[in-house]
Amino acid sequence: MELPRTRKLLAVLFILFLGSLSQASAQDTKLKWFGHAAFSVTTPNGKVLLIDPWIKNPTNPEAKDGKDPLVALAKVDYILLTHGHRDHVGDVVEIARKTGAVLICNPELAGNLVKLADFPGEQAETEAIMGIGGEIQIADGEVTVAMTPAIHSSSVFNPKAGPTEPERAYGGNPAGFVIVIKNGPTIYHSGDTAYFKDMETIGEIYSIDVALLNIGGHFGMEPKMAARAAQSVRAKLAIPQHFGTFPGIVQNAAGFVAELKALKINFYEMKPGETITFRGKQLLKK
Ligand SMILES: [Zn+2]
Repeated sequence: MELPRTRKLLAVLFILFLGSLSQASAQDTKLKWFGHAAFSVTTPNGKVLLIDPWIKNPTNPEAKDGKDPLVALAKVDYILLTHGHRDHVGDVVEIARKTGAVLICNPELAGNLVKLADFPGEQAETEAIMGIGGEIQIADGEVTVAMTPAIHSSSVFNPKAGPTEPERAYGGNPAGFVIVIKNGPTIYHSGDTAYFKDMETIGEIYSIDVALLNIGGHFGMEPKMAARAAQSVRAKLAIPQHFGTFPGIVQNAAGFVAELKALKINFYEMKPGETITFRGKQLLKK
């Protein structure tokens, strides 16, 4: 009689153990960096958001040696574009066609991507098209996306331009995004912005757990001002992006890191191709 009871108890404990495992992973949010400004976010419910998908950028290890980096993107639910420049729009049309992902960006950029770059219209004409100052709920309410200001420019390359037509079409206003994830971190992606003091308001309104900040300079924030941006949005963790991919911009994060150390702000330097995990709002230590 004793043995079956012990077995039963073991079975119950085992089921409880499995339950706790799945509960733990269900609370995880994954953040992957493809290099430059391209990130994916996988939510606790398994929805995949892709931001500024220049996946074929030269620093992405998955794009080297003739490999097809889009193989890693079998499932994408939403694509967020901060603005229309080619180092941000990247491979968006190919990825959208492959995955059926819904586009999140401003209406002018969406319209011109459909008209000029053959982006699939039905994925660019949804309620996810938005403007600066707006918030939308996506992923069955698991994620709120807010579009924030950015000081930069935005145009979209027109591959159909004739010899007398401009090869850049209007791209609407450039933006940043705050991505609020239920049971996960709140992530700020700065786009290609210059520093602006109203970033402090972003920090006051949203509790930014992770700030993905453009540090490359020349076209946007220099490292010193990117560190100040981390301070202004009250980032609990700062992650540098938009550097080391082409000449003229900062080639490494050393300057940014030095400034953050002086300001006593937590940071993490991701490597292109790396994925980090958050349990709730906390970065899991490796
Ligand atoms: Zn850029």
